[in-house]
Amino acid sequence: MLPSIELQLINKKVKPTAMRLLVLEILYKDRNAVSLSDLVSKFERAEKSTLFRTLKTFEEKKIIHRIDDGTGSVKYALCADDCDDMHEDEHIHFVCTVCKNTICLNNIKIPSINLPNNFKLNDLQIIAKGICDKCNS
Ligand SMILES: [Zn+2]
Ligand SMILES: [Zn+2]
Ligand SMILES: [Zn+2]
Repeated sequence: MLPSIELQLINKKVKPTAMRLLVLEILYKDRNAVSLSDLVSKFERAEKSTLFRTLKTFEEKKIIHRIDDGTGSVKYALCADDCDDMHEDEHIHFVCTVCKNTICLNNIKIPSINLPNNFKLNDLQIIAKGICDKCNS
């Protein structure tokens, strides 16, 4: 196990339980965003509700961010270091139509948009769809 994973949980004031460490390790190793059902199939002996609570805790503690990629299942990916009080993950997400993976394009920022008067923005997601580098090579 990577020692930095445990440290990251401690830094974010999350108790590093065995389950949390295992889930976070998967998110670190895989560049693709994961859904709750992805985790359920990886942890056959874990309760779905436990996995769900683990994801919720990570999201609240700004360790992972949620991605609504339009596929019908919410996915989660690791946050950048600057997520602290607020999520700052304002980047584009890429959905590959071949391997069906969702990937954070951390370096491509979402442009700021000007809404009409009295419209209040809570969440802005940009989903790019196409063929990822691995499937395209
Ligand atoms: Zn974040
Ligand atoms: Zn792909
Ligand atoms: Zn992302």
